[in-house]
Amino acid sequence: AMAGLAPCIQLNDGYNIPILALGTGRGTIKESETLDQVRQAVFWAIEEGYRHIDTAAIYGDEEQVGLGIAEAINKGIVTRDQLFVTTKLWNDKHARQDVVPALRESLRRLGLDYVDLYLIHFPISEKADGSPDNIDHLETWQGMQEARDLGLARSIGVSNFNITQISRLVESSGVRPAVNQFEVNPTMTQEPLVTHCQNLGIAVMAYSPFGFVVSRKGSQAPPPGVDDPTLVALANKYGKTVEQIVLRYLIERGLIPIPKSTNKGRIAQNIDVFDFQLSDNEVATISRFNKNIRVVNPTDWKDYPNYPFERD
Ligand code: NDP
Repeated sequence: AMAGLAPCIQLNDGYNIPILALGTGRGTIKESETLDQVRQAVFWAIEEGYRHIDTAAIYGDEEQVGLGIAEAINKGIVTRDQLFVTTKLWNDKHARQDVVPALRESLRRLGLDYVDLYLIHFPISEKADGSPDNIDHLETWQGMQEARDLGLARSIGVSNFNITQISRLVESSGVRPAVNQFEVNPTMTQEPLVTHCQNLGIAVMAYSPFGFVVSRKGSQAPPPGVDDPTLVALANKYGKTVEQIVLRYLIERGLIPIPKSTNKGRIAQNIDVFDFQLSDNEVATISRFNKNIRVVNPTDWKDYPNYPFERD
């Protein structure tokens, strides 16, 4: 049976956003997974009650996301206006005049005539060959506003912007992003950046929400793992899995987690987190796992202008 819908919160531009999204990022998609599994996952997710799907031009799966959505609409499960679709501008389209055409390409692949949310994927800019460029994201932000004014994106925002970059964007443009999407999980709790965004009325989407609680290819996993006694005790107390406890931890903090799964059972499990609550003390206990260790750590870019993360 369907677990039910995720609640919505209101963005600073007045639109509503469901507080849990299906992730479709390729980073953790296993080699054995096919793009068609993304289509299938999107369809299953909508069937299960998800109303928010997160994709990006760079994921190479917008077409499959669009097919999953079309299938759900054609079968009468949802209407377009009941869905919230997020996609992202890649680093090589940061010139002001490149933003609207890049979004039109994403919309063509998605088979949609607007997205609900368009994000600048990273604050750094690259040339088409991946070498560093130095386009000021204030310029990119102008292009994002043009996309919004054309009705191609209802809301606009950013991803992977740090405190300094958010402050400068808001102060210089006078236009607050609706959302900043960045990594938050038990080993990367991000209190300063979360507080900064929340004080400005900028909603936070939490990517890689499971952190190292789930296994990650090619990385040494810092604790807590899925067998951590504190997390297991909470899971037993509430009759949930450790992964569900981690998602609920993010929701209690007012964040919008984006769990990725292409597995039908885990897709269902990940939205079944709206029938229990963690106490403030339990949230604080999980936050003490923080180690400032990132799942997504693109150190290849550390010498690029506007690199947002610590450089060590
Ligand atoms: P997640 O934290 O969502 O972890 C995904 C992994 O967890 C997959 O291996 C998945 O496997 C597994 N998993 C999912 N649910 C469960 C469960 N209930 N129990 C056990 N294992 C589970 O990591 P991601 O890095 O994929 O981040 C999520 C999304 O965030 C991305 O898909 C993307 O949309 C977005 N993102 C955005 C970034 C940005 O720069 N803006 C960067 C990184 C991610 P399986 O599929 O087999 O269930």
